[in-house]
Amino acid sequence: MLLFSSRRKRPDRPPLKWIAHGWRQVSQWLLAQFRQAPYGAISLAIALVVLGSQQLGLLESLELSVYDYWVRQQSEGGLLHQQSSHEALDTVAEIVIVGITEEDIQNQAQWPLSDQVLAELLDTLQQNSPRAIGIDLHRDIAYPPGEVQLAEALQADNIFVIESLIDGIPPPPDFPVERVGFNDLLVDSDGIVRRNFFYATLAGDPFYSLSLKMALALLDEQVGNATQLDISMGNVILPTLPQNAGGYSDIDNAGYQLLLQYHPQGFQQVSLTDVLSRQADSVIKDNIVFIGTVAPSIKDTFFTPFSPIRDQQPLMPGVEIHAHNLNQLLTLIQIQQPPLQWVSVGIEGLWILCWSLLGGSIAWYQRRPLLVIGTLSLTTVALVGLCGFAFSQHFWLVLAAPAVATFLSLLLVTVYKVFYYSFYDPMTRLPNRTLFLRRLQPLLQRSYQRTNVDPKANANNSASLHAVLFVDIDGFKSINESLGQEGGNQVLCQVARRLQRCLPNALMARVGGDEFAILLPNLQHSGEATDTAAHVQKLLAQPDSSMPQMLVITVSIGIALQHSGSSYRAADLLQDAHRATHRARQLGRERYEVFARGMRTQAVSQFQLEMDLRVAIEQQAFELYYQPIICLKTGYVAGFEALIRWPHEERGFVSPGDFIPLAEETGLIIPLGQWILETACQQAQHWHQAFPQQPPLAVSVNLSGRQFNQSNLVEMIQATLSRTQLTPCGLKLELTESIAMENVNLAIDQLLRLKQMGLQLSLDDFGTGYSSLSYLHRFSIDTLKVDRSFVSHMDVATEDSDIVKTILSLGHQLGMTVVAEGIETAAQLQALRQMSCDYGQGYLFAKPLTAEQASQLLQQPKQW
Ligand code: C2E
Ligand code: CA
Ligand code: CA
Repeated sequence: MLLFSSRRKRPDRPPLKWIAHGWRQVSQWLLAQFRQAPYGAISLAIALVVLGSQQLGLLESLELSVYDYWVRQQSEGGLLHQQSSHEALDTVAEIVIVGITEEDIQNQAQWPLSDQVLAELLDTLQQNSPRAIGIDLHRDIAYPPGEVQLAEALQADNIFVIESLIDGIPPPPDFPVERVGFNDLLVDSDGIVRRNFFYATLAGDPFYSLSLKMALALLDEQVGNATQLDISMGNVILPTLPQNAGGYSDIDNAGYQLLLQYHPQGFQQVSLTDVLSRQADSVIKDNIVFIGTVAPSIKDTFFTPFSPIRDQQPLMPGVEIHAHNLNQLLTLIQIQQPPLQWVSVGIEGLWILCWSLLGGSIAWYQRRPLLVIGTLSLTTVALVGLCGFAFSQHFWLVLAAPAVATFLSLLLVTVYKVFYYSFYDPMTRLPNRTLFLRRLQPLLQRSYQRTNVDPKANANNSASLHAVLFVDIDGFKSINESLGQEGGNQVLCQVARRLQRCLPNALMARVGGDEFAILLPNLQHSGEATDTAAHVQKLLAQPDSSMPQMLVITVSIGIALQHSGSSYRAADLLQDAHRATHRARQLGRERYEVFARGMRTQAVSQFQLEMDLRVAIEQQAFELYYQPIICLKTGYVAGFEALIRWPHEERGFVSPGDFIPLAEETGLIIPLGQWILETACQQAQHWHQAFPQQPPLAVSVNLSGRQFNQSNLVEMIQATLSRTQLTPCGLKLELTESIAMENVNLAIDQLLRLKQMGLQLSLDDFGTGYSSLSYLHRFSIDTLKVDRSFVSHMDVATEDSDIVKTILSLGHQLGMTVVAEGIETAAQLQALRQMSCDYGQGYLFAKPLTAEQASQLLQQPKQW
């Protein structure tokens, strides 16, 4: 049933609230994506530009060329299985074209054909009972002779004739209007016929194309109301082409139009002479006939998508196009195969956006040019494949627009990336040093000028103190060594993210491997800078599940201030902040220091110190001192802590507090630590032989973080023990709780392996770090060393005394012994004895002694 129906109602909209909620979610997601990957914004902009150009028609000729290519592919046995009316309609028939050739015209020696010849042609055709005859010839005026004869022939009700709406040529006079259709074809701006124009209204009157009139008659369909917009045939709904269907941008879409689907195999064609000489009878029999000129000289020919490649037949006669039109309509109506469709502008925009994003992401994420080319090629293949597949499923998906969007996105994002990498750190996506200095410099200059060139202006604006914080991750080297490069990078990204979360509006940059710079502009006083530094440290030190292995990060911060009125170069300010960080690190972890002028000369001497340290290690110019550890129950020496001393030619004794951190930082601690261990073990073995006692004397050796994280630590100690023949219980290792907490799981493993060797383990400076009690019992520790700071304040502050008591009972509960460090007064000793502290160490008993002095002490045992 063929019906004109009213435009289908759209399905009910979901409630507005739901849409608003969805949009909020989507926009939030998009925003987050854009922040993460700025290529998204570029790709979106390009998609919009491409969509705009497409709507303006700039891409139309490209799209149409692609369209023609698909149509040709389809005819060459490929894409679109287009059924012919013959296959589809057993009930109807095949279409045959009676073409009036050049030869026919010569034979007749008359053009237009006389009415007599045409009448004769019709009579001959009728003898083969054709289903319908469509005459694509204008016969609005008589061409004698034979007018009467033709008028009679035209009486048959299977004959259809043409009129022209555009040229205003009427049908033959007195011809019944039900069998008149227009023969106007729609030609695209490039002269190619791609559309089937089958219905129009003029001044309110409906007009049908020749092919539609014939289709209706052949299928015995009724024509309904002509004023509505969609046309439905059975289950098939045929919406008319919008102005921008598929790759079109602004076609004249008057009336009803479809995209013309050419019948791939074409139609049988016979000549006028063939029919008149009765040679075409079998071809005509029971079929549908179109009569029209095929002679090139008559110029009723058109370009089609096939034209450029079909050399022998570059132009298609109008009559053949009408045959294709009819074939398409019959196919559509009878087998209800949907016509070629297009997608809405919205979906087309999304389609273009997807490809644009793809192009942008390729450029953004791929680093190697070869990979970019490879991925781009794959993308192109995928795009062509998808469009081809869609065409085979009767959808015209645009190809040129997404292709252009992909390439443009790729290009622009590449350009952006080059720019980006010269100013941003690709890993953390923070500005780099260059950009940081560029932003900082004008700020410093302005504030200098404000105070020195225009002091009045400054009076109104007192806030002109700028600070740079230089943030350095504590122990990042060992983090990198234990977690590997990947893990280290993850830590850096997390720290960057947390810094940003902590100071969302501050300019910050990654200025070195594990170093970040933060600008704090326009402060009122320097206290704001130190407060911020403390705040940053506090926030970063909070455990965070996004850190690999729940790692707790601490940072050292150096602060450099530019006071108004002082001229500063940005690079110098950053350098000073760096120096201050250096100082902070020397003083311990998780500290901040404000830059002081002395630090500049110190930095130079620091460099000198490092050189000296290298030489000293080579020459083994160190001494190991031994500080006795006293058993508080018996009052006798129970062991010694080995403490390194560096007698420096110019500086005198260099404190380990000054060079151990430097050795850590430079990695020199590894060879140095080996020397310490070897020397301490030798000494202990010597004492064991000279002064055997039960339990045997234990020598404690301090391990720095870097040593502890050494992967071959266990093997190294084992080798040392067997070289020096020391029994493992004669060696005790001391490490601080911060080292153990740096990477808890690794520490638990490492400590267990050391414990299994028979060594004793001690947790140094207990109470000052941030060990978690829940880990303490898993650390296989024998001894807690209460930090000196608690012991030294015991007599003045009751809290410190309470802390010592608590540590003692905690240690005892966990089956550990406790050593109190830094006992300097008899009162402290007495208090500790009352608390049943197991061991003590401090100047009250002895300062660190040379090996010789320590031996003497063992020789003449003293009871405290
Ligand atoms: P530490 O492990 O906490 O060592 C104890 C420090 O306290 C030693 O300082 C010692 O001389 C000092 N001390 C002992 N009793 C008292 C006291 O009653 N009063 C005061 N005020 N101080 C006391 P030293 O030797 O300067 O060592 C400082 C730090 O250097 C050590 O702290 C340790 O962390 C590190 N260190 C020293 N020797 C070595 C070593 O051979 N290897 C490693 N890796 N680090 C070492
Ligand atoms: Ca120690
Ligand atoms: Ca200690």
